[in-house]
Amino acid sequence: MKTIDGKSLAAKMRGEIKDGVEALAKETGVIPALAVILVGDNPASVSYVTAKEKACKEAGMASREIRMPAETSEKELLETVRSLNEDASVHGILVQLPLPEHIRENAVIDAISPEKDVDGFSPVNVGKMMIGEECFLPCTPHGIIKLIEFAGMDIAGKHAVVIGRSNIVGKPVAALLARRETNATVTLCHTGTPDIARFTREADIVVVATGRPGTLTGDMLKPGAVVIDVGVNRIADAAKPKGFRLVGDADFESCSRVASAITPVPGGVGPMTITMLLWNTLESARRFARLTGCTTAEKMV
Ligand code: NAP
Repeated sequence: MKTIDGKSLAAKMRGEIKDGVEALAKETGVIPALAVILVGDNPASVSYVTAKEKACKEAGMASREIRMPAETSEKELLETVRSLNEDASVHGILVQLPLPEHIRENAVIDAISPEKDVDGFSPVNVGKMMIGEECFLPCTPHGIIKLIEFAGMDIAGKHAVVIGRSNIVGKPVAALLARRETNATVTLCHTGTPDIARFTREADIVVVATGRPGTLTGDMLKPGAVVIDVGVNRIADAAKPKGFRLVGDADFESCSRVASAITPVPGGVGPMTITMLLWNTLESARRFARLTGCTTAEKMV
């Protein structure tokens, strides 16, 4: 059984992205810049935003953090997003979710210009992904495809079962697996699926994204299956300095006895999500440089 090392794939890809950032800056003077908006001070969101900023800096990108208090109105947030849409020095905009309850997440995501929606969540990018047009792919699902390929599996012709149908993981990863380029046959399971094991036992690839530890166990797998565990769950553990440890949605011990390869938690899908965000931000800056005809002689940022 192989552990699919997301950290090592992420490190390799981040090295390539850093080279791409340097080359773009040299050729065009454009430095890719990501604006991250954080509303409130949810500790998990603060740590995600900090990790994204650190990754940007390490890749040679510019990052702009906009922190807004939890009482920020939807109107104020929308105005901030719109001003970043207009700002030529910003190539990617990310609004850290979840937002406080009084703000409609969909209204905010809709307000981000599709050209700067490096999370790939806007309806325009989701629609383009579905019809196979060029767009920013959502980061976690795109990272999952890269991880399966990195594990050495040729996805074409395989049966993939996705457990979970959220808009940010389950549905888009099912759509990406079923695209002609990847060519898997896909089954999408959720809480309305009776006997999920009936499907997973037939699967060559199982992607589990439920936010429920133990959703997938070894007895639910076909021998040799590849398992991608997206879940990030905190389990109380007095032996750990923080009083908890992180586990995925798959029972690692039993699944690793049956699978041919499995992603660990942490260190599997997580590092790839930020990597694909950097990838999209670099791509956005490249498009900007192409559209504006930037050269180092006429530096834009
Ligand atoms: P979500 O929005 O809560 O969606 C969970 C989905 O799983 C829902 O579709 C739900 O079905 C389904 N589900 C829940 N329990 C189930 C069960 N026992 N059997 C079958 N289906 C079940 O969660 P999410 O945003 O997709 O995230 C899922 C997990 O991935 C979370 O742990 C999250 O923290 C993690 N995550 C990690 C990353 C990363 O970068 N590593 C990124 C995103 C998310 P219904 O639709 O029927 O309710």
